[in-house]
Amino acid sequence: VTTALLAVSLTACGQEAKGGSRYKPADGKGGTIGLAMPTKSSERWIADGKNMAAQFKKAGYDTDLQYGDDKVENQVAQIENMITKGHRLLVVAAINGSALTDVLKRAHDAGIPVISYDRLILGTKNVNYYASFDNERVGRLQGQYLVDKLKLGKPDKNADDTRSIELFAGDPDDNNTKYFWNGAMKVLKPYFETGQLVVRSKQTRLTQATTLKWDGGTAQKRMDDLISRSYGDQRVDAVLSPYDGISIGIISALKSAGYGSKSEPLPVITGQDAELASVKSIMRGEQTQTVFKDTRKLAAQTVKMGDAVLTGKKVQVNNTKDYHNGEKTVPAFLLEPVSVDKSNTRLLVDEGYFTAGQLK
Ligand code: BGC
Repeated sequence: VTTALLAVSLTACGQEAKGGSRYKPADGKGGTIGLAMPTKSSERWIADGKNMAAQFKKAGYDTDLQYGDDKVENQVAQIENMITKGHRLLVVAAINGSALTDVLKRAHDAGIPVISYDRLILGTKNVNYYASFDNERVGRLQGQYLVDKLKLGKPDKNADDTRSIELFAGDPDDNNTKYFWNGAMKVLKPYFETGQLVVRSKQTRLTQATTLKWDGGTAQKRMDDLISRSYGDQRVDAVLSPYDGISIGIISALKSAGYGSKSEPLPVITGQDAELASVKSIMRGEQTQTVFKDTRKLAAQTVKMGDAVLTGKKVQVNNTKDYHNGEKTVPAFLLEPVSVDKSNTRLLVDEGYFTAGQLK
């Protein structure tokens, strides 16, 4: 038993974990897992929480699922509470990746391991593993979709066609934002250089494109503004949007400006998460694309990781180089995102993500 406990503590914090949470059965099973999710304002996080709760239960653990309502102080208080209650493992999708250093130090001191869920937690050694999707690939899929749909071909200095694009990014405090952006820019930048793509608003820097709290209404206001300031008689041909909720706001702004008719079709618009409303919008021909990230698989991977940590088994990872959080490179398991447009929404039904009835 002593050896088993030692192994658990060592795996738990990667260094001398003092004490440990109160509940430590010999076989490592049982006890409560704290699930700190960011917000219920988007379907995906509701599904993540639900899936993890169900799957941890199946693996023999109780769960304490909390949502922070996108407020950092709520999330910190929720995590503090989980530590006080002696939960055995924390799974955290951070609201602000840089705001958890103090509270995770407390988790470490209590011997509670931490899995960073979907979004990397920054600025602390006290995060053991990271489970996510290949975030840069999400951005590349969005960028490549725009290039293909606009039929730009290879970057070509002599091409005479110029298409206009506007750029949106996610929340500035979410570490994923820069991965999505960088992935998309890797694909789009060569076309800015040849002049095949132009951002008429000139808002080409990440800091100009971010959307506080991933909020659709905020994106709508910015899009209203971009159209009225930079697009007198000209059309916007494409919009890089990092998330379905943002795409919905962008589409509303475009419709108010007269887009969405036969003579003035909507631009090509990307998205992320395959949220139901946006998949329906894609089927209606409004939003053009989204990136499907199967949250059931992310939950399953996280449960596997958590169970391995708690039972002292080897934790499976597939990336040990790309996710440095400022203090350490966090060993990660990354899943593959999939691009979805009108031509393959069927996939979501085949995979059982939605029922055929939901997509009617
Ligand atoms: C997630 C995305 C999601 C966004 C907004 C990001 O951290 O990776 O899937 O669209 O947050 O909730």
